[in-house]
Amino acid sequence: MKKRDFIKYGGLLTGAMISSTFTSCGNNSGGKTGVRSRKTSPIKLTYTPYTLQLKHVFTLAAGSRTTTPVVLTKLECDGFVGYGEASMPPYLGESHESVQKFLSRVNMEQFSDPFLIEDILEYVDGIAPGNYAAKASIDIALHDLAGKIMGQPWYRIWGLNPEKTPCTSFTIGDDTADVVREKVAEAEPYKILKVKLGVGNDKNIIETIRSVSDKPIGVDVNQGWKDRNYALEMAHWLKEQNVIYLEQPMPKTMTEETGWLTQNSPLPVIADEAFQTKDDLFRVKDFYDGINIKLMKCGGMNAGYKLALMARAMGMKIMVGCMTETSCAISAAAQFSPLVDWADLDGNLLISNDIYDGVTVEDGRIILKDRPGIGIIEL
Ligand code: MG
Repeated sequence: MKKRDFIKYGGLLTGAMISSTFTSCGNNSGGKTGVRSRKTSPIKLTYTPYTLQLKHVFTLAAGSRTTTPVVLTKLECDGFVGYGEASMPPYLGESHESVQKFLSRVNMEQFSDPFLIEDILEYVDGIAPGNYAAKASIDIALHDLAGKIMGQPWYRIWGLNPEKTPCTSFTIGDDTADVVREKVAEAEPYKILKVKLGVGNDKNIIETIRSVSDKPIGVDVNQGWKDRNYALEMAHWLKEQNVIYLEQPMPKTMTEETGWLTQNSPLPVIADEAFQTKDDLFRVKDFYDGINIKLMKCGGMNAGYKLALMARAMGMKIMVGCMTETSCAISAAAQFSPLVDWADLDGNLLISNDIYDGVTVEDGRIILKDRPGIGIIEL
């Protein structure tokens, strides 16, 4: 092992030792165990609302929009800064106002040990039910902070191989045939396309894409199909079009019908709107083939990573998805992407005013940065 590598990986060991012995008084007897002691200061939380501008109008079964509200958080401790983000698409019911109201109730200064991740997140979770994007903004910043103090990226702390990241899909929104063809051309660097169906012209957009590209397509219906027979007929037709999965084909309330579809569908059926947290995992496991984990739904990296392990243990397929987000939340989710079957982490690619540099996509595949924490820097 080269000296530089030894120092780098030795840092991880030291970090792990800090995490198990670090105390708020910062005065433990490091001499006997070799544990480094350090002075600590209370963790300071700050946050700023921000509005993401989308490059294209975003159309789903539920409606269209051109912006997404986010709140950017920072946690500071001992000169280290961890970055986080809450993204609030309208359908989850959170907003600039609700997230700031939640964050105003978070007293991070009572903590001076950022490695007490479980305790801190349990406290944050207990402040109020729901508010998962707001909670994710603390969770992500806390992971970034702890990773920076350890000097290691989270994928390495979790023991995941950065060579095993999946390709990310790139979303082609519904539009006129000419614009759809333009978007497919724009998506040239990506190996998998993702298409939103359920807006009434399902076959048209697939046929338009197939007129210019034979790349695999993931289909997300966003609960748009209400008839299980139509859904099954479409699943067979889509299979012939080299579609690889079917995400949330029917309303989340149509559990039995979706279970029937899953049993008969030639494509794996993935729960998105029907699945948010670990409680939902037990509920959906018999009706869907897999789940779409999103940090803004489940509350952040800690929950997302654990969900991926649980779903894998249950034999389910796993997708990691996103909202429209900056490279902050995208890079956070990408840390556990070596564990998943499919990644849909294109939220940062669909906006024109990103303010971070983080994970990139090369030859369609997610490239994790060798930077500590979640691996982002401010632009
Ligand atoms: Mg979806």
